[in-house]
Amino acid sequence: MPVGGYKLLPIVHEVASATVDGVELTADWNRQFETRVIEDYDSSPLFDLAALSEAESIEWCYGCGRCVPVCPVDLVGEYGPRKVHRKLQMGIDLLEDPDLWLCTTCGNCLRVCPKQVDMIKIMPAAREAAMTAGKEVPAELQGVLEATFKYGNALGQSPRRRSAWTKGAGVPVRDLTKEPGPVDYLFYVEDYWSYHPRGHQAAQAFARILHQLGIDYGILGHEERTLGDSQRLAGEKGLFEMLMEQVVETLDRHEFGAIVTPDPHGFNALATVYPKYGHTFEVLHYTQLLAPRVSELTFTTPLDVKVTFHDPCYLGRHNGEYDAPRRLLEAIPGLELIEMMRCRENGYCCGGGGGGMWLDGHTQSHTSERLSVRRVKEAAETGADVLAVCCPYEVSRFEDGAKAAGVDDRLRVLDIAELLDMALGGPDRVAGA
Ligand code: SF4
Ligand code: SF4
Repeated sequence: MPVGGYKLLPIVHEVASATVDGVELTADWNRQFETRVIEDYDSSPLFDLAALSEAESIEWCYGCGRCVPVCPVDLVGEYGPRKVHRKLQMGIDLLEDPDLWLCTTCGNCLRVCPKQVDMIKIMPAAREAAMTAGKEVPAELQGVLEATFKYGNALGQSPRRRSAWTKGAGVPVRDLTKEPGPVDYLFYVEDYWSYHPRGHQAAQAFARILHQLGIDYGILGHEERTLGDSQRLAGEKGLFEMLMEQVVETLDRHEFGAIVTPDPHGFNALATVYPKYGHTFEVLHYTQLLAPRVSELTFTTPLDVKVTFHDPCYLGRHNGEYDAPRRLLEAIPGLELIEMMRCRENGYCCGGGGGGMWLDGHTQSHTSERLSVRRVKEAAETGADVLAVCCPYEVSRFEDGAKAAGVDDRLRVLDIAELLDMALGGPDRVAGA
C-alpha cells in the first residue's frame, strides 16, 4: 500500500467503510476528502466547456497520455488534450487561454484516444463560445474571418479575380458563368489555387492534365465562394453556415455530375459536413479523379527525382484517402517515392488546419518551432529532392518552412499536379492549344 512515502487511500463509494493500516475510513471521511478536493480546485471551466454542444467528450479524459506523443503541437510545445483537460480541471478558463487557438484539429489524438475525446468537436465549440462571449480573438485570424465574410474568400481578394489563373493555363478552361450548360465535373478551385501565385501554377498544371484526359469540366468563376471548413473549425460556425447557403444556392443553378476539388478542407466540408445539413453532392479530391485514369496519361519526361509525400490531415486521417496521391506519384517515370517516418495515419500536421493557416504568429509565440518547419526538416532527413503535397495550403507553408529550416536549396516543394504536369512535358506541350 505505501507508495513513495504516501499511502493510496481507497475511495469509499460502494462500501460503508474500509480499513487501511488499522485506520477505518468511512464514507463520511470520503465525502470530506472529495469536498476538500473541490475546494482546492474550482473545476467549473471543465464542466462549463463540457456543457457546450458537441464538447461533452472533454470530460471523458482519464489521463492515459496516449495523445501526448502524437499531438503535433505537443511536440513543439506544451499542449495536447490531456494537458488541456488538466488545466480545465485546475480552473483555467480555456476561453481566455492561448491554448484555445493552438489545436489544428489534425485528428491524431482522436485516432489513439481510448475514450474518444474529440478535439475536432471540442475546440471549434470552445472557440465559438469565446467569440460569442466577446473574448479576444488573435488579430491575424480575425482579419481572415472578416475578409471571408466580405469577399467570400480567405485572402480578401475580389471575386472577379477568381478565374485570373486560367489565363496562364495554356488550355481552354470553361467558365460556367459565361458558358453555361451541363458538365461531368465541376472543378471547385477553392481559395489558394484561385488566388495564391503558387496555387495558380498548380491549378494551371491540373487544367492541362484534365485537357489531356479529355475530361468534361467547368469552373464557377466569380460565382465561387470558399467552402469555409477551416473558418468553421476556427470557431465561426455562423460564417460557415452563411457561406454554405450561398454555395448551395449557386450549385443548384448548375448541372454537373460530381465536384472535384484540390482542397482537402473543402473536400471535407462537402463530404462530411454539408450532408449533416441535408446537402449531398458527389465529391472527389483531385487525386481521386486522376488516380484511376493515370494509365491514360502519356508521360514524355522522366523526372529522375527522389520524392517524399506529406499526407494532408483532412484527406488522410479525416477522410481515409492515403493511396490515390501515392498511386499518382508512383506512376511518374523516374520518380522514387520515399516515405517519412511519420506518414499515412500518423502523418505530421503542417499546422494549417482548423484555422492554423491564419494563426502562425500566435502559434509561433507559444511553441518552440512552427509545425511546417519541423515537417520540412523531417522531409529533408529522407534525402528527398522534392516534398510533394496535394493540399493548396501546403506549398506556401512548406516553402516558407524550407527557407526557415535552411533546406530550400536542396528540397523543392511541389504539388502532385505540378509533378505530373512536368512529366507530361509541362506548359510547352500545350503551347498554342
Ligand atoms: S488519449 Fe484520450 S483519455 Fe488518454 S490522456 Fe489523451 S485525451 Fe485523455
Ligand atoms: S487534434 Fe491534433 S493538434 Fe489538436 S490536440 Fe489533437 S493531436 Fe493535437
